[in-house]
Amino acid sequence: MASPSFVPFVDLAQQHHPLRSELLAAMAAVADRGDYILGRSVLQFEQSFAAACGVCHGVGVGSGTDALTLGLQACGVGPGDQVVLPVNTFVATLIGVLQAGATPVFVDCDLKTGLMDLTAVEQAITRRTRAIIPVHLYGQMVSPLALRALAKAYDVIVFEDAAQAHGAEREGLKAGSVGLAAAFSFYPSKNLGAMGDGGMVVAQQELVAQTVRSLRNYGSTRKYYHTDPGGTNSRLDTLQAAVLQIKLAHLDAWNCDRNRLAKLYDQALSPLAHSGIFPMVNDSGSGHVYHLYVIRLTQDCPVDRTRLQQELAAEDIQSGIHYPVPCHLQPAFHHLGCGAGNFPIAERLSQEILSLPMFPGMTDNQLEYVVETIAKVVKAHPVLI
Ligand SMILES: *Cc1c(COP(=O)(O)O)cnc(C)c1O
Repeated sequence: MASPSFVPFVDLAQQHHPLRSELLAAMAAVADRGDYILGRSVLQFEQSFAAACGVCHGVGVGSGTDALTLGLQACGVGPGDQVVLPVNTFVATLIGVLQAGATPVFVDCDLKTGLMDLTAVEQAITRRTRAIIPVHLYGQMVSPLALRALAKAYDVIVFEDAAQAHGAEREGLKAGSVGLAAAFSFYPSKNLGAMGDGGMVVAQQELVAQTVRSLRNYGSTRKYYHTDPGGTNSRLDTLQAAVLQIKLAHLDAWNCDRNRLAKLYDQALSPLAHSGIFPMVNDSGSGHVYHLYVIRLTQDCPVDRTRLQQELAAEDIQSGIHYPVPCHLQPAFHHLGCGAGNFPIAERLSQEILSLPMFPGMTDNQLEYVVETIAKVVKAHPVLI
C-alpha cells in the first residue's frame, strides 16, 4: 500500500466536499430571504440541535465562549458565586466563568481519562459554590450519574461545557442533557462545526432559555425595550445556522466513524505500550465521540514529545497538544493565585499528551501510516537504562 503523502490533523474541505451543492443552496436561500439576523434557519437549527441533545430548548449565540458566559448568567451564576472547573481545559471554560463575574475554583483531573476528578470537586465545594462545570474533554462525557448525585447532595448547579462532545452519550444520557444547561461551540473543527464562529446554550427550562434569548440580544426580547442589564450582542448567524442544519444530519455517522478510527488506533498502538505509549482511556464505549484522539508518552517512552512531533511533521503528519499549559499556569491568570505543583496530574498530562490526526473520513491507510511512523521513531530511539 502506498504511503499517504500528507496526513492533516483535521480535513474540513474533505468533509464539506460531498455536501458542497447542498450547503451552497442553503446559503443562497438565506441570501435571497434576507433574514440575516435571527432568521428562520436559526430557529430551525435551535430546535433541531436541542432535540438531538434530548433537551427542550436551544439558543444560538456567537461562540462557545459566549454560550458559557451567557448560559451561566442565565442560570443565575454571577458575582460572589464560586464555580468549580477543571484546569485541563481550553481556556474558554475559564473565560466564561470570569465573564459571568463568578469566582473560578480549579480542580485536578484523572490521569487515565483526563476528565475532571470528581473526588476533588467534592472537596472543593463550599457554601459559596453555585455551579460545577464538567468539561466533556476530547469527546468523552464526565459521568452523568455522578454529576447528578453531586448536584443533589450539595445543592449546586451542573453546567456542562459540551464544546467537544456533540452527540456524546454516557449512562443513557446525551451531552447537554445532564445539568441545568450546557454550552456548545460550533467552531469549524468541532465535531459539529460551522464555517465560522458559532455556539449554543441548551437548557431544559424555558426560563433559562428565555434569559439567554434576551442576553444575546442587548438584554431585550421586544425591540427597543431592554429588561436585562447583562445583555450583549452575540447571536448565531443565520448563514451559519443554515450550514449547521445540513451538517447536523451527518453528525451521528461522523461520530461513528471517529469511534471506529479510535478503535483502530487503540489496536494498532497496543504494541507500543512496551515503549510507554498509551491512548487516553475510554470509559464510555461507543458514547465517546473522539473530538480528539490523544495518547500519552509516559516517562518510560524513549522519545521526547517535541522530537516525535518533529519526526511526524517530517513525514507530513500533523499532530497537536491539547493543551500544553493548564489554565492555572497561563500567564493571563497568574492573579488567580495558583502556581506549579497545585494540580500535579493536569501538569503531568500537559507534558505527556499528544493528539494524533482524527477526523471523519480519515482512511485506514492514513491511520496505519501514522502508527507505523510513530513505531519507526520509537524503534530508532533505544530505551536508555
Ligand atoms: C472550543 C471550546 C470552547 C470555546 O468555543 P469557541 O466557540 O471557540 O468560543 C470552550 N470550551 C471547550 C472545552 C472548547 O473545546
